[in-house]
Amino acid sequence: MRFFATTTPALSFVLALSLAGCSANNPQVQDTKQIQAPADKIIKADKFTHANYDKVRMTHLSLNLDVNFDEKVLDGTATINFKLVDPTATVLQLDTKDLTIRSVEGLGADGQWRGIDYTLGERDDVLGSKLTIPFREGMNKVRIDYRTSPKAEGLQWLSPAQTAGKKHPYLFSQAQALNARTMTPVQDTPAVRITYDATLRVPDGLLPLMSAEQGAMDENGEYHFKMPQPIPSYLLAIAVGDIKFKAINDHIGVYAESYILDAAAEEFSETPMMEVANTKLYGPYRWGRYDLIVLPPSFPFGGMENPRLSFMTPTLIAGDKSLTNVVAHELAHSWSGNLVTNSSWLDAWLNEGVTSYVENRVMEELYGEGRAVMEQVLALDDLMRDLRAAKRPALTHLKMPADLAHPDDAFTQITYAKGQFFLQFLEQRFGRDEFDAFLKKYFDDFAFQSLSTEEFIKYLHDELHVKNPDALTSAELKAWVYGPGLPDSFITPKSDAFAKVDAVREAWLGGAAAEETANWSTHEWLHFLNKMPVGLSEDQFERLDSAFKFTGMQNAEIAFAWYMQAIKGGYGAVDTQLENFLMSVGRGKFIYRLYAELAKRDEDTRTEAKRIYKNARPGYHPIAQRRIDAIFAKYAGG
Ligand SMILES: [Zn+2]
Repeated sequence: MRFFATTTPALSFVLALSLAGCSANNPQVQDTKQIQAPADKIIKADKFTHANYDKVRMTHLSLNLDVNFDEKVLDGTATINFKLVDPTATVLQLDTKDLTIRSVEGLGADGQWRGIDYTLGERDDVLGSKLTIPFREGMNKVRIDYRTSPKAEGLQWLSPAQTAGKKHPYLFSQAQALNARTMTPVQDTPAVRITYDATLRVPDGLLPLMSAEQGAMDENGEYHFKMPQPIPSYLLAIAVGDIKFKAINDHIGVYAESYILDAAAEEFSETPMMEVANTKLYGPYRWGRYDLIVLPPSFPFGGMENPRLSFMTPTLIAGDKSLTNVVAHELAHSWSGNLVTNSSWLDAWLNEGVTSYVENRVMEELYGEGRAVMEQVLALDDLMRDLRAAKRPALTHLKMPADLAHPDDAFTQITYAKGQFFLQFLEQRFGRDEFDAFLKKYFDDFAFQSLSTEEFIKYLHDELHVKNPDALTSAELKAWVYGPGLPDSFITPKSDAFAKVDAVREAWLGGAAAEETANWSTHEWLHFLNKMPVGLSEDQFERLDSAFKFTGMQNAEIAFAWYMQAIKGGYGAVDTQLENFLMSVGRGKFIYRLYAELAKRDEDTRTEAKRIYKNARPGYHPIAQRRIDAIFAKYAGG
């Protein structure tokens, strides 16, 4: 397709330098040797957008919207400021998906709004419809009158019955990766950063929140929001519901439905310590307040790093702060991802891998090396599973292949855990002090910018590698970034605590009681369960369950690990509680694998799983529905 540019050309010489000797199986890198473009020329490198951001760039978005729960739509106007990158440009191209566009106007030099003949392109299943707006010379602002679709993939509208309080409806968004365009016309690419403001009108009794400075309700009953720092569109976020607030300190707090507010504030009470640790390692927090919102259980992710307001799943509320590494992760995105952003989803590891590394470093600062290493080993287990499941080797490279079908396919443990281990490798080779200084400077030098893998490698080369040329070879670097799986230079993390767990498991399998488990953390329980051999007997399942009460356990991570073992081993006694779990939890990390395991077991189990899914599906997020539909579709007709 036309917009399908190759990698960032200005970096070609460094790539040729630092990746000298790259082989034929990496045509992407070889190509860059051939291309040279002036450094000031912007090449469109994100194929997941209709936007002509190499010619015209959005700079600001101003939303004025009614949040209409009866019709399940956002309805109003989006006013867009833009600037020319290419002075000969005559049209502004925006992404939309399933939006109804009623009119487009442009602001003339005389201060008058006048109608513009726009065109809305055909709908592409992944990209949506291109909105093309011709503009006259000197024009830099357009206003689009529109409404969203009730089926917008980025918005989940919950009925009162689907909330804990049962009295009020609830709305929350998930814009990453391509869903901002289902909420507003926008240049929906992480390469473009915008500031935004919004005016929202919501039904009485509901509180709207956005990824922005929150304003109180004014005398007209409207709420005003302002995001002064430029963000990529995937960080646009909205939540509306019967939401209450509890402060943790003077600039950190928790929003939630009242049933879980106190528990959430207690569970996340160490967030200020995490912020201190993050700031000490990587420089200042630059977003003003940092709040968390605990969403209803249908939220499909562990967390989403919306700036100033991380969206969190209630499945993190374990009662013992054992799952708060997800908070550390979302907070870490305030540096990697939100402050320094991948310029296309092919570079998603720059967001998620760097963040996972920062998260782990913060966990080490706060809770010691033992916990950090346990989390590395668990991440490695997940990575190995995703490496085995990868449909082709190119999908196990850190730099995703140019023919990636959908950005969602980039969000596997390859971008998260392999990315994290790549940074650990760099830390091992350059030394912690050197590498910490490098990363801190990186966040500073690229603050509020978006960059590609190749720009990162150039920066690594210039800042660190030229000073320490013997620390690593270009072949090693290349193997990590453009090679499959885990390279030879990977050093497997080893946990002493897990070695003790292994011994307890061995003894238990030999018939002894499982001893000395009283002080085990969630991590140790997960390791204990995940490494159980296949083929446990019914009796062994019963012994485990009666000793440790796994079935129906409140800790969602341990319950999930147990249900996975139970499904694999055919331990039917979990049935009722497993169904409860699937009916009450919408977090993709759990439910995708549970449904996949149930579906593949046998036809009876699959029929049962379909029945549960049919009941649970209306409560799941559109993103989760799409994923689970695909799981069952594999067995269609069988
Ligand atoms: Zn993340």
